[in-house]
Amino acid sequence: MEACGELSPPPRTLLGPGPSNVHPRVLRALSTPLVGHLDPEFIRLMEETKALLRFVFQTSNPLTLPISGTGSAGMETCFVNMVEPGDEVVIGVNGVFGTRMVDVVQRCGGTPVIMEAPWGAVFSPDDIRAALKRCTRPKLVAIVNAETSTGAWQPLVDVAPLVHEAGALFLVDAVTSLGGCPLKIDAWQIDVCYSGTQKCLSCPPGLSPVTFSPAAQEVIRNRKHKVQSWYLDLSLLEQYWGEERVYHHTAPISMNYALREALRLVSEEGLAARFRRHEDNHLALAAGLNALGMRLVAQEGARLWMLNSVAIPDGIDDATVRKHLLAEYNIEIGAGLGVFAGKVWRIGLMGESSTRSNVLLVLSALEAVLQQNGHACAAGAGVSAAQEVYATRESRARLNQHEAR
Ligand SMILES: *Cc1c(COP(=O)(O)O)cnc(C)c1O
Repeated sequence: MEACGELSPPPRTLLGPGPSNVHPRVLRALSTPLVGHLDPEFIRLMEETKALLRFVFQTSNPLTLPISGTGSAGMETCFVNMVEPGDEVVIGVNGVFGTRMVDVVQRCGGTPVIMEAPWGAVFSPDDIRAALKRCTRPKLVAIVNAETSTGAWQPLVDVAPLVHEAGALFLVDAVTSLGGCPLKIDAWQIDVCYSGTQKCLSCPPGLSPVTFSPAAQEVIRNRKHKVQSWYLDLSLLEQYWGEERVYHHTAPISMNYALREALRLVSEEGLAARFRRHEDNHLALAAGLNALGMRLVAQEGARLWMLNSVAIPDGIDDATVRKHLLAEYNIEIGAGLGVFAGKVWRIGLMGESSTRSNVLLVLSALEAVLQQNGHACAAGAGVSAAQEVYATRESRARLNQHEAR
């Protein structure tokens, strides 16, 4: 075998659908010495991590912990613990991740009741009511908050009462939304929720925070069948993450260090300031893309702050542009998935990646690369439009502050 060189990844600006760029403090946490997974010091860190997770999820749920595995492991944990053979599960399908939920529910022996919307659109309360009417005894309603494959932002505020009235529990995929836009588990009465570390929490991929309401815990306690997955069985995981500290699997120590540090950064910034930053950068990027002659594809009024899906201009080759951005500017943006493949780019502004300088950088780079590839756009138009948004938002914020005094 030929000798492998020393590890030296290029310094990418990660503006795709995840992972996002990671703060140096999180990288430092990853390189700190290991302790054992039952070491009293690690147990202390576990308790702190659970408290920090309750803070970002805005919940008091005791059953709140990071699953060892990426966001998909969180998805699977939620379904394998909640769903038993024959259970009806209403699933919103308007992109890749709703489709994945259907697959997972089928593997649990559940019966998916599919509620469909076009890619880029979101569900209305009436859509949810209609889907519930098609059920005999719905157990769960599962919805993706931030559809990373389309850029659509599903409103959640008024959903839980409809779900609970029908006797079901409410499950939310918050992989991309957590830490980037408001998500209030308790206030919005969400019963089951999972997320991921590598999107708006800006930690490397590898853990999946989950939270379960007392009502969801009750459902798990009253299961007739054993959870089909040994690794993801919460009744076993609870004994390690709870008081008993019984060995289940070896917790990924370094990843847990990293998550704790990433959550500390979120709490230092404050949720309101963090959301405002994501909103500002999205509005500036959207204005810039418009000025370059491009349009966002998600439904107007339901566009995510952290993931911008933009139609690729006519005559422009998807892969060529992404290759140029990567090779010449060290910028990664995402390709379209499924029905959007070849038609849409996904520009992520998640966590640490959501900065003004990244917005201005990607707009300048896109302008140059698009020009090279024959798409006419006015020189500097994207950056000026973005700068204008920042200036307006800042003067408005100053005015509000003044009035509040
Ligand atoms: C990324 C993502 C997932 C899957 O997470 P992985 O970390 O890739 O396993 C699930 N749902 C949504 C909405 C996502 O964006």
